[in-house]
Amino acid sequence: MKVLKFGGTSVGSAQNMEHVKDIISDGKQKIVVLSAMSGTTNTLVSIANDILNEVPHLAMEKINTLHASYFETIDVLLSDKDLNLDVKEYTNTIFEFLVESTCSEFTITLENKILAQGELLSTYIFNAYLNQEGIRSALLPALDFMKINDAKEPDLGYIQKQFKAVWDATPQADIYITQGFICLDESDNISNLQRGGSDYTATIIGAVIRAEEVQIWTDIDGMHNNDPRYVAHTHPISNLSFDEAAELAYFGAKILHPQTVLPVRKDGIPVRLKNTMDPEAFGTLISGETFENGIKAIAAKDQITAIKIKSGRMLQAHGFLKKVFEVFETHKTSIDMITTSEVAVSLTIDDDSNLENIVAELEQFASIEVDKDQTIVCLVGHSIVNHESTFKLFQILQDVKIRMISYGGSRNNISLLIHSKDKITTLNKLNDYLFELVTL
Ligand code: ADP
Ligand code: ASP
Ligand code: MG
Repeated sequence: MKVLKFGGTSVGSAQNMEHVKDIISDGKQKIVVLSAMSGTTNTLVSIANDILNEVPHLAMEKINTLHASYFETIDVLLSDKDLNLDVKEYTNTIFEFLVESTCSEFTITLENKILAQGELLSTYIFNAYLNQEGIRSALLPALDFMKINDAKEPDLGYIQKQFKAVWDATPQADIYITQGFICLDESDNISNLQRGGSDYTATIIGAVIRAEEVQIWTDIDGMHNNDPRYVAHTHPISNLSFDEAAELAYFGAKILHPQTVLPVRKDGIPVRLKNTMDPEAFGTLISGETFENGIKAIAAKDQITAIKIKSGRMLQAHGFLKKVFEVFETHKTSIDMITTSEVAVSLTIDDDSNLENIVAELEQFASIEVDKDQTIVCLVGHSIVNHESTFKLFQILQDVKIRMISYGGSRNNISLLIHSKDKITTLNKLNDYLFELVTL
């Protein structure tokens, strides 16, 4: 069986939901994972912020506008009177909860519950629409099987067991619909797999059921060789290995949630990226195979903080790096890039929520410099560290101030750290010289 995930734009209007119905109606049984309709999760985040900032009237305005827009979609999609009424009643219960929340005290648990409503709405609406169209579909409630542990990793043992229980208790259908993104945490509170997490839901389910393939349907024809939001001439890459895709997703290619590839890599379950607006386009196939060598794609990850740790006695004092890493370990902060010299070590983190404490502890034995607003630019491809175009990199980037460089950590990745203000120029320069074959 295949698992197909449709993102926010793919279910973002009544018309797009009709496209999705056409794509999934091929007579084969499948599991469909849906995101919230586009814009909904952002609005829910902003409603939660209004509650945090104690401006409930602003939250109420957003709730009312969103409520009205859902009723419009329901009216376009559901001409069947009973289904229309049933879905509106369900929608009302969700909006009643949101209205009540504006009078509640802000907590992370409340915020997570608010954020979960988008996927609950989109799946309920879409399931009713399929029923109206005579398609046998059923809902598999994600909150009955999807769970993360205290390290915020999927609890695969629990998910496997619960998914089977939910599946066994659900009437036979052709299309099984479930919510992306949402889950329970270790204390059974509603939580989520982080923004963009519906991709992750799809591969977690794919791994649990040993799916034949996981498909991620979105608004673009696959993984492009550079970020299409900042670079004009990009093109889709037809094949990527799991490792290449994992590097690109982790280092900022927004088309995939950073962890998407992890659950399926071990079992070699292929992941196909497809465009809902252009289903005929090949897209990208992510699999265990690697194809041609050389730089295939570039991605960029923002909001990186660089920390320089300088100590007079670094190399003589063995155990220095151990001491450094222990500080990050204590504060559960992972390190992305690292470079060393005789007198100093520089490293980067993307989560600076414990920065103050980390710096305070490091200052006990070293002098520290912190640079914020940094961006990691990551070049990915099979065996790129030995490829001829790689040797041109310093020449191409001679006018860009490179703060750090990581080469040789793996054969498939070269990462550069630059100031975020230089990101767009850097991405475009690399694109021109590496992919558009502008000569130096
Ligand atoms: P969805 O809502 O379907 O999950 P996303 O917005 O999360 O869609 O991801 C698709 C978007 O990712 C594209 O519209 C594109 O702007 C952006 N994107 C960033 N980098 C890349 C890339 N390398 N290849 C393709 N798309 C990318
Ligand atoms: N709706 C969630 C978000 O916007 C999850 C997703 O779309 O993948 O982040
Ligand atoms: Mg996404």
